[in-house]
Amino acid sequence: MPPTKVNSGATVREVAETLGLGSAEVIKKLMELGEMATLTQTLPDETILALAKALEQRVEVVSAAEEEEAAEPAFEDAEADLADRPPVVTIMGHVDHGKTSLLDAIRETEVVAGEAGGITQHIGAYQVHQDGKVVTFLDTPGHEAFTAMRARGAKVTDLAVIVVAADDGVMPQTVEAIDHARAAGVPILIAVNKIDKPDAQPDRVRNELASQGLTPEDWGGETIFCDVSAKTKDGLDNLLEMIALAAELEELKANSKAPGSGVVIESHLDPGRGPVATVLVQRGTLHVGDALVAGATWGKVRAMLDFTGARTEEAEPGDPVEILGLDEVCEAGERVEAVVNERRARQLAQQRSQRLKSETLARQQARKVSLDEVFTKATEGEVKELNIVLKADVSGSLEALQDEIAKLPQERIVVDVIHSAAGGITESDVMLAAASDAIIIGFNVRPLAEARRAAEREGVEIRTYSVIYKVTEDLRAALEGMLEPEEVEETIGQTEVKELFRASRVGTIAGCLVTDGRITRDAQVRLVREGTVVWTGRVRSLRRFKDDVREVEEGLECGVVLDGYQDVKVGDVLELFETKQVEQTLE
Ligand code: GDP
Repeated sequence: MPPTKVNSGATVREVAETLGLGSAEVIKKLMELGEMATLTQTLPDETILALAKALEQRVEVVSAAEEEEAAEPAFEDAEADLADRPPVVTIMGHVDHGKTSLLDAIRETEVVAGEAGGITQHIGAYQVHQDGKVVTFLDTPGHEAFTAMRARGAKVTDLAVIVVAADDGVMPQTVEAIDHARAAGVPILIAVNKIDKPDAQPDRVRNELASQGLTPEDWGGETIFCDVSAKTKDGLDNLLEMIALAAELEELKANSKAPGSGVVIESHLDPGRGPVATVLVQRGTLHVGDALVAGATWGKVRAMLDFTGARTEEAEPGDPVEILGLDEVCEAGERVEAVVNERRARQLAQQRSQRLKSETLARQQARKVSLDEVFTKATEGEVKELNIVLKADVSGSLEALQDEIAKLPQERIVVDVIHSAAGGITESDVMLAAASDAIIIGFNVRPLAEARRAAEREGVEIRTYSVIYKVTEDLRAALEGMLEPEEVEETIGQTEVKELFRASRVGTIAGCLVTDGRITRDAQVRLVREGTVVWTGRVRSLRRFKDDVREVEEGLECGVVLDGYQDVKVGDVLELFETKQVEQTLE
């Protein structure tokens, strides 16, 4: 018998219904498993699986996205219905290396070629013709957009062009972009830009990239390098040719006869036209008048505009189009599908909105991957590798960490550092980890506020350390299934330093605002400057106006003197925490 499908994020009542059991019985079983749950409480995936095991039932937890994937008959396209489709290309690279200039220059080649008499508006994507073939460019440069879409499960890009300025060479975001493309399994082509500059050193770029594992073809490697100048347009034709060639190797096909479906690239509210979404069609043909469901929104295609801004009646695989008629703005990366009628579209959107809500909840309650459970999952055959995003304060400690990690025993679980860089933990790191089922390890660095929120939302585990051997000790224990929390850290609050006062007797007094939680006099403190931990210690004195106090609540101001650290700066963040010993349990 096939396993029963339970929706991810299902409540106790829904689980009971799906399994054909009484709610009381389910609650009782949960209690035996040590979980106290109410009828309407959402259960994390793990709990559902543990429950099924205890009930001796075979259950498969499915998410909204998985179920739709299964429902989409993408694999049933008859060979005869498959035709070539344009490749979709994303341009990534370090800031100021010329991503935007290159996208503009490529767009202009098409205008010169006489297409549509000039493209005036940007809709997030456009197409150019190259030797009778069409190439689609996503006009949202940067790996953040790329990875945010991937974290939603959308695979949009067929080829990543990584731009490196010939006068500047490989920079941190170049490496980041390469890591993001690699984690997505997208082929990479290198555009060495700004070769018009007198101090351009295209060979230096080749050398630097070769040491990243991207060896140029004419050096015996497999990576295509193109020298270009977005300014003088030198090498632009060659770049387009190489893109078309690289794409050809991918043999990209799609069925244009099915109902249209694709992915939202960008969406916004236009004051005059209402919600507008740029959609990349991936399968089938989209028509004006089609009923659509896009994530948790729905509507009917009132009008469609191609990337030049001209009205169009239909769009085929690889085509970007702007769609008017959805009832709300939706998120980039959301799937769009034409369905049989508006009633069905509304129904699907409502179901999905419900499901997305409870899934978000479930995701917050249960992490995608956590170090504690990596071993158990490996034993069950669920995971074979542990993906890590590694951040550290300086590159010296990064190298030391990588060396230590490479020495770990990896017979059963392979450890793969998919991205490593110096600097604080950013939202982009969290999105990469979310899209790649990775955990984040920070050494002497902390997550910035947006990163922390994103990690909560996406269920990504962030572990921070200040001693190298602790990192390897934890990893080793996790790989051997023996990770036991000995000390847990509890965050109490966060304050921001607003001004500084000098007092001859006590030294520097930091005038702080409690931005989150509270500050207490006996808490431990971590002083964080631009995401990097500068100092860890304790509070020496805590004052509100002239009085010594035990604690100060969120939203209030206070004066703080740190015990043994004077060099506080305005803008520093004090993180307050307590560490608690957890008893080791004997099983
Ligand atoms: P992005 O941040 O990667 O999108 O970079 P931009 O496209 O904004 O370019 C950054 C700067 O480099 C701008 O001042 C451009 O004019 C300049 N630039 C871009 N491409 C070239 C090039 O091929 N040659 C020269 N000389 N300058 C360029």
